[in-house]
Amino acid sequence: MNIHEYQAKALLRSYGAPVSDGRAVMKAEEAKTAAGEMDGPLWVVKAQIHAGGRGKGHFKEAEAGEKGGVRLAKSVEEAASLAKQMLGRTLVTHQTGPAGKQVNRIYIEDGSDIARELYLAVLVDRQTSRISFVCSTEGGMDIEEVAANRPEKILSFSVDPATGLSDFHGRRVAFALGLEGNQVKQCVGLIRTLYKLFVEKDMEMLEINPLIVGTDGNLKCLDAKMGFDGNAIYRHPDIAALRDETEEDPKELAASKFDLNYIALDGEIGCMVNGAGLAMATMDIIKLYGAEPANFLDVGGGATKEKVTEAFKIITSDPNVKGILVNIFGGIMRCDVIAEGVIAAVKEVGLQVPLVVRLEGTNVEKGKEIIEGSGLNVIAADNLSDAAQKIVKAVKG
Ligand code: GDP
Ligand code: MG
Repeated sequence: MNIHEYQAKALLRSYGAPVSDGRAVMKAEEAKTAAGEMDGPLWVVKAQIHAGGRGKGHFKEAEAGEKGGVRLAKSVEEAASLAKQMLGRTLVTHQTGPAGKQVNRIYIEDGSDIARELYLAVLVDRQTSRISFVCSTEGGMDIEEVAANRPEKILSFSVDPATGLSDFHGRRVAFALGLEGNQVKQCVGLIRTLYKLFVEKDMEMLEINPLIVGTDGNLKCLDAKMGFDGNAIYRHPDIAALRDETEEDPKELAASKFDLNYIALDGEIGCMVNGAGLAMATMDIIKLYGAEPANFLDVGGGATKEKVTEAFKIITSDPNVKGILVNIFGGIMRCDVIAEGVIAAVKEVGLQVPLVVRLEGTNVEKGKEIIEGSGLNVIAADNLSDAAQKIVKAVKG
């Protein structure tokens, strides 16, 4: 689960990390008061969306010369008018994809004078299975370019969980970032704070880009992105409360309400499968026969008729879906329950695209009877590759 920059900064602030003063607003009328609560002479007006690259992004239907989602203002009035301009618009960045994201919140921040822009992230390094600090002297808006063309400029330091974090990690990061004097001390403190926050809140990713050295010589976190481990959210009601459902794919959101493991993809074949491994295999075999899956969907072992109905509705609500493949291996899951769910869903939402069903396992005969007796136009398949070939043929001709 991801959160907004202003929420991430509030968390950083509560742990004692250096961030600027700022106010989040959701209405244009609130912008002037919010900006007026800071002294200036510089304000930063920042679109809050769950995507990076806002500074280099652009608004849809932008006027000539209009800049992206992070803008500097020299007065309270200018800050308020920029906030007004951005609210409700769609911001497109290299991370949002061409559809962009609607801006529903603005963060107005006390502007900083920047001497250097650095990069610092904390993440779980899959290669070493350790929490790692990733840093670079080349922070700011082009870190993707640095990673692609000058990877030697990005350094990584992992923490051995047996010995834990110590000040030397902070000093290594500080020296890698070319910090001096008091900045080294500040960096050691910041690394301690970020590590504590990362571990205590079960984070997956914490990115500060840029971490700046101000013209006053002090370190500050000027941007913050945080991702949390979804499986651990139940331990953190304070973090769960920060969830912004408007930022999530509506299909994935609906699926999560019914405890379905659903990930939207860009292909044309909707899949309903039980078990993550079988779901992966189903996606692979669809690709093997020349089509692309529209989603990953694992209805789980103990799916009820209602859950299957919901899953089917989510699949059919995707306009990209040109055919559906139901692939069930009934172990704990019974084939007749799946069949009833599919029939109920089709009766409710209709069936505009070909549907191939492959059932195997517990109560398979009963499941097949239900489907055959339904009078629906369902293409039956005997095994996985038969099913994949049939649905690809039905969709592609
Ligand atoms: P991103 O584009 O989504 O990563 O948004 P950031 O918060 O990182 O802002 C983008 C860029 O705007 C930064 O790299 C800075 O160069 C600039 N910026 C952000 N805040 C300030 C500020 O307080 N003062 C100044 N001078 N520039 C800022
Ligand atoms: Mg940034």
